[in-house]
Amino acid sequence: MAPAPGPERPSETDRFVLSNRSYAETFRDGGMDARPVRRVAVVACMDARLDLFAALGLELGDAHIIRNAGGVVTDDAIRSLTISQRALGTRTVVLIHHTGCGLLGLTEEFRHELEREVGQRPQWAVESFTDLDADVRQSVQRVRTSPFLPHTDDVRGFVFDVHTGLLREVH
Ligand SMILES: [Zn+2]
Repeated sequence: MAPAPGPERPSETDRFVLSNRSYAETFRDGGMDARPVRRVAVVACMDARLDLFAALGLELGDAHIIRNAGGVVTDDAIRSLTISQRALGTRTVVLIHHTGCGLLGLTEEFRHELEREVGQRPQWAVESFTDLDADVRQSVQRVRTSPFLPHTDDVRGFVFDVHTGLLREVH
């Protein structure tokens, strides 16, 4: 639905609310369990071009999707994975970074600028990277070595190409 012109144009959030009404009209409660059917958790970048359901052949209820800037295995990603495995039964972890990531080329200068501007140092690391494959490997290592995760034998990392739609595994 195209937004109406003029000052009363609905905000993006208003458009979500409208879209949701249409969605709910045809929504059927499949009676799904909170435990993902395929027992998989995916950690991926928040990039707007990455449609994980389509790219991986996922259906509703299949997997946990944990997303952040870069698809980085941060403490918070570990928190989600821990709950995913220990409380909700997942066993497989798939990590997905992608070409053209907004974090590529950012440096710690981003953090310094932020600190200078707001007068406070962020608690978190920017986790920027220059080498995609190296960062995927590092993320895989963080999952494999986490003491909180009971299942670390099936962890694989990939780079998604935003131009071809193909995944390439990082070994
Ligand atoms: Zn990205």
